[in-house]
Amino acid sequence: MIDKSKARRSTRQRRLIVDAVKHSLNHPSASDIYATLADSGIGIATIYRQLSALVEDGEIGSVKYQGEVRYDPIIQPHAHIVCSKCDKIWDVELPKEIKNLAPTNGSFEKLDVDLTWKGVCSDCR
Ligand SMILES: [Zn+2]
Ligand SMILES: [Zn+2]
Repeated sequence: MIDKSKARRSTRQRRLIVDAVKHSLNHPSASDIYATLADSGIGIATIYRQLSALVEDGEIGSVKYQGEVRYDPIIQPHAHIVCSKCDKIWDVELPKEIKNLAPTNGSFEKLDVDLTWKGVCSDCR
C-alpha cells in the first residue's frame, strides 16, 4: 500500500526544490538550496536525494565547478560564465553555429560541448 501522505509530502518538497533552482540566478549548490529552503524544514539528505532524482529525470541540469555540483534550471545545451572571485555562474546562450566547430576527424559519437567563460563580475570589481 502506498503511503499517500508521504507521497504528497515528497511531491511538495520536490516542487519547492525545483522552484528554488529555477528562481536562483547563479546555479545553486545543494547547500545553497538547503539555506534557501531553511524555513520549510526539509533536511539536507532529502535535498540531495531530490536533486539527484530531478537531474536523473531531466527536470533540471547540473554543472560541476571546482569539484562541487551546481544545479542548473536550463537543460538545453548552453555555455556558462563564472566569476572567479565569487564563484557565481551565469548562463550564456550558445550560437547555433557552434555545431559547425565540432571536430569531424575522430570516431566520437554524441559530441557535446562544455564551454565556460571566466571573468570578474560587476559586484566583485
Ligand atoms: Zn563576482
Ligand atoms: Zn546553466
